[in-house]
Amino acid sequence: MRRYIVAGNWKMHKTAEEAVNLALALIPLVSDVRSVEVVLCPPFTALPSVGEVLNGSGLFLGAQNMHHEPQGAYTGEISASMLLPLGVSHVILGHSERRHYFIESDPQIREKVGAALQAGLTPILCVGETLAEREAGETESVVSGQLEGCLEGIELAQAEDLVVAYEPVWAIGTGKTATLEQAQEVHALIRAKLTQFFGVDLAGKIRIQYGGSVKPENAAELMAQPDIDGALVGGASLDADSFAAIVRSV
Ligand code: PEP
Repeated sequence: MRRYIVAGNWKMHKTAEEAVNLALALIPLVSDVRSVEVVLCPPFTALPSVGEVLNGSGLFLGAQNMHHEPQGAYTGEISASMLLPLGVSHVILGHSERRHYFIESDPQIREKVGAALQAGLTPILCVGETLAEREAGETESVVSGQLEGCLEGIELAQAEDLVVAYEPVWAIGTGKTATLEQAQEVHALIRAKLTQFFGVDLAGKIRIQYGGSVKPENAAELMAQPDIDGALVGGASLDADSFAAIVRSV
């Protein structure tokens, strides 16, 4: 039985003080929901203070990115070994905004996934097609290619801790959600691909989140699909009531 996982990606929103206030507002609304792993991913600058607030709450702390090297001359970057002492347990990797604005490639993301697993962090690996790719009938090849590029050589023993987020780029921040059929179809494809890599038992344990304009109104029906095991939430995670409603509807 896969435990649902709902993560809030706060992106470049909230000062440390604002982030603490959002976390404080959220905790009482969701901390009794034991069937869902709830992860808050504030900006790096708010990780220490939000980490303190989450301590003992049952909620998890996630980062939005990391570098694959443990240390070195990489100005502006943050490593897994810097995240771990802050209480970070999850890290979003390969988000489409990182791929698009920062030109992150599959091989780079693969290095990060490997480093995160090695360090004991749960990577939330994002994959998804653009609108042009979907309209050209390339969804399957794009998502398969991203999975191959980002998971090549990942050891079986570590793969159970992996989370994959299917985020159609055209649904992120646009208010357009994939239909239930579109989402389930790609999630099943991802599960089949994971089965090829890791075998049926392990692939059956890996959680696959849907992301792209998830709201309280559409969360329950998306989560009811057989291969959807949670949500990666952007915009709606910035509002305590909306995010809590999504978690509770799961
Ligand atoms: C995201 O950025 O991961 C995301 C899913 O955003 P939104 O929920 O705002 O579409």
